Amino acid sequence: VRITVIGCSGSFPGPDGPASCYLLEAEGFRLLLDLGSGAVGALQQHASLDDIDAVSLSHHHADHCLDICPFWVARTYDPHGRYPRIPVYGPEGTARRMAQAYGLDEDPGMTEAFDFVTLAPGKREIGPFQVTLAHMNHPVETFGFRVEHSGRVLAYSADTGTCPALVDLASHADVLLCEASYLSGPDPMPDMHLTARQAADHAARAGAGQLILTHLVPWNHQERTLAEACEFSSFGGPISLAAPGRIIDVG
Ligand SMILES: [Zn+2]
Ligand SMILES: [Zn+2]
Repeated sequence: VRITVIGCSGSFPGPDGPASCYLLEAEGFRLLLDLGSGAVGALQQHASLDDIDAVSLSHHHADHCLDICPFWVARTYDPHGRYPRIPVYGPEGTARRMAQAYGLDEDPGMTEAFDFVTLAPGKREIGPFQVTLAHMNHPVETFGFRVEHSGRVLAYSADTGTCPALVDLASHADVLLCEASYLSGPDPMPDMHLTARQAADHAARAGAGQLILTHLVPWNHQERTLAEACEFSSFGGPISLAAPGRIIDVG
């Protein structure tokens, strides 16, 4: 699996990159995990917009899903012709929410461009990937992903507070792409996001091979995010920061 970080800015786009979006490629199949604010712009540096085979949205917060709107425009109104309909996986109500976001009637909404598929916890195949889904600990329905291909495993936390299901999802994953929205400090909001240290603790409990910290919020100093994950946790594997355009070959 090849992972390209399209955007990894937490909660809103940063000066140097969009909100959450990751391009996963295997066997010529291209899957987008999340399509957050600003991602469609940067995505075009790495893939043609008509070359995406499927999109999977972790949850309905704007920084994870709202660039479905410009993606829909590009796929629908290209003067060279409408692009093929592709599946868009997401929580319950995704088709309705995306139609509302663009001010479209719900029927047809975006359904002529996208085949909306409702996610549920458990296993499913998306193209060549075996995907396991679990609910994360976040104020709206949110899925974490375990993506397997040819014996290699990527786990993605999406947004979550401390979450035993994330440890299960990331069990012995080669790469855990884990949100680290908070720095240590007084009373971060519970059941919302993780500190960098908590992200590393989840990686340690899961026995993950390497930890990549993501959902990096622009108001934090990212060197401190990395330092807190490295210094305070029992995780012994490599820890690094996601960055727009970073490519991770898993396996
Ligand atoms: Zn978020
Ligand atoms: Zn969120």
